[in-house]
This record gives sequence, structure tokens and C-alpha cells, in this order.
Amino acid sequence: MRQKADLAAIRRRMVAEQIQGRGIKDLRILRAMEEIPRHLFVPLTKPRATYCDGPLPIGQGQTISQPYITAYMTELLQVKPSDRVLEIGTGSGYQAALLSFLCAEVYSIEIIASHHVRARKIMERLQYTNVHLRLGDGCEGWPEEAPFDGIIVTAAAKGQTPTTLLEQLSDDGRLVIPIGQSLYDQQLVVYTRQKDQLTAREDLAVRFVPLVQGD
Ligand code: SAH
Repeated sequence: MRQKADLAAIRRRMVAEQIQGRGIKDLRILRAMEEIPRHLFVPLTKPRATYCDGPLPIGQGQTISQPYITAYMTELLQVKPSDRVLEIGTGSGYQAALLSFLCAEVYSIEIIASHHVRARKIMERLQYTNVHLRLGDGCEGWPEEAPFDGIIVTAAAKGQTPTTLLEQLSDDGRLVIPIGQSLYDQQLVVYTRQKDQLTAREDLAVRFVPLVQGD
């Protein structure tokens, strides 16, 4: 009981200092991050340490993003409660959990089986029933459920944004993806679709593990 209260206090501090303190204003994102037990999403770490201000390893060379980056990318997506959103790179499942508080349905694809299985167990345990997980190559999207109001890619594309993903974006939809040739040269790119017109703009410099991308 005591540990539960301690972790809730640590979460509130994380949100106040790392998220709100750096300019994230969307109250729904702030409240959800106060709520979600981030420590359950990060394996093999002391619970308190999972609320630190940086990315952490989750195994198989992959990482859970820094809380601020998760919040920032979510704010860029501008999701509405009625939206259906696709994520590429489930990883720990934390980003999908955050989205599950903000929109109607979340679809998330992961290419590494052990991460997919682990995320599925956590979603079941927490009863985040609007999160749908699939094992496979996210670059193919999720055609049966397309189009999506928002698509978020949480691994970095080398150069090209997979066209299949852009095609699965609904009218007025947004796609957020890190793009860059190396770990030290990546930028978030935000695509917006209006009718058949796609516009792209560059945003924050970031560091993400590479997207496994067939050419
Ligand atoms: N969103 C995650 C962090 C993702 S780390 C979180 O909140 O924890 C990036 C993840 O993308 C890794 O788990 C990696 O295995 C996965 N990935 C890389 N290429 C992929 C692809 N083509 N399709 C689906 N997942 C992929």
C-alpha cells in the first residue's frame, strides 16, 4: 500500500517537472501519465527508477522512450476521444497505454515476439481493453482497420516514410515519425493529410532505435 502511494507521488512529480514543466499543456495527457503505472512496463528495474528523465532498456536492444518524448509525440498527434490510432513499435506498451486514455481504439504493431507477448500481458492485467496488439511488420500497417486518424511510429526510418502507412491515414489524419540516417541525425516529421494533399513539416531533433524496414 505504502509503495503504491509512493509511486503515485513519484508519478505526479514526474508529470509536474518533466512533462508540464517543459511545456506540455494537454491536460488529458498530464492526467493519464499520472495514472499509468509506468513501472509495470519496464522490466528488471527498481520501480522508482522507471520514472527517471530518460529512455531505458527493455531488452533485445530496444528502449522505452523518455517520458517527455512520449508526451511530446502524443501532443503532436492531437488525438480526439473518438479517434482510432495506429502505433508502429509497441515495445514496452507504454505509448499505447497512454493513447488508450486519449482515443477510442489503439492498434499497435511490434516485430519482436517477446515484446509483443509482454505488452499483451500488461494490457490484460491493467484492463486497457481498447488496445489491440499485433505481431508483425508495422511498415505494412493494419489494412483491415485502416484508415486511422493518427499514426505514430516509435522507431526511426532511415529515409523514406513507408508509403503504405501514409496511405492508411484518414482525411485530416496526422502521422508522426522520426526520420534520419543515423542515431545522431534524426528529426520528428509530422505529416498531415487533407483530402489527397499531404504536407510534411520537421519538428524536434530526437534519438530512436531504427525501424526494421524492408526496401
Ligand atoms: N513505443 C515503445 C518504444 C518503442 S522502441 C514504448 O512506448 O515503449 C521501438 C520498437 O519498435 C521496438 O520494440 C522494435 O522492436 C519495434 N520495431 C522496429 N521495427 C519495427 C517494425 N518494422 N514493425 C513493428 N515494430 C518494429
